[in-house]
Amino acid sequence: MVDLLGRAGGLDQAVKFIESMPIKPDISIWSSLLRACGSHQNLELAEKVFQQLIKIDPLNDAAYALISNIYAKASRWDDVNWARKKLHELGVRKQPGCSLIEQNGTVHEFTAWDFSNPQSAEIYAMLDEIKGRLQKQDLVETSSHHSERLVVAFGLLNNPPRTPIRVVYNLQICRDCHSAMKLISQAYNREIVIRDNYRFHRFVYGNCSCKDYW
Ligand SMILES: [Zn+2]
Ligand SMILES: [Zn+2]
Repeated sequence: MVDLLGRAGGLDQAVKFIESMPIKPDISIWSSLLRACGSHQNLELAEKVFQQLIKIDPLNDAAYALISNIYAKASRWDDVNWARKKLHELGVRKQPGCSLIEQNGTVHEFTAWDFSNPQSAEIYAMLDEIKGRLQKQDLVETSSHHSERLVVAFGLLNNPPRTPIRVVYNLQICRDCHSAMKLISQAYNREIVIRDNYRFHRFVYGNCSCKDYW
């Protein structure tokens, strides 16, 4: 709801909605609102929302990136510098991307360039096959060994045919992987559902449910 209201520019309504919620707003709700503040350039509200976000998650680098962009649009260069400095500090400690998939009651975990899974040889062969198929569709590859790719290759290898591949990813899916997932869903006729730390992405027949909105 907050996302919908925010996207449509109803920032006041989104705030009222949050205030009326019976549960405490979490990171994803504040992040949605902060993104909406950025799209509609409401600096005053953005700063308040940013404070709420940082209170819950002081290491939230996405929040600093968002506020830095909002400050930049408002030409508040001192604040931009402050946010970028913070972002740099956080980057040093930043957690690595990690993707999870459940298979017959076992959770498998993947990081980028991960070779720890016993099926690694098959997974990397699968990634090469995927790469071949995507190249035919003119996708320039820079992220072919991100954990999201490994986990989806694992899903393609192990999930029964025509069943959806469901993944949980701890960061925000990158633009390259997002494009790749759309093509993979089409090329392999597979539904792929990725819950990243912002939203659900459901890839079917070359499209994503988020309509390419982050
Ligand atoms: Zn990626
Ligand atoms: Zn998406």
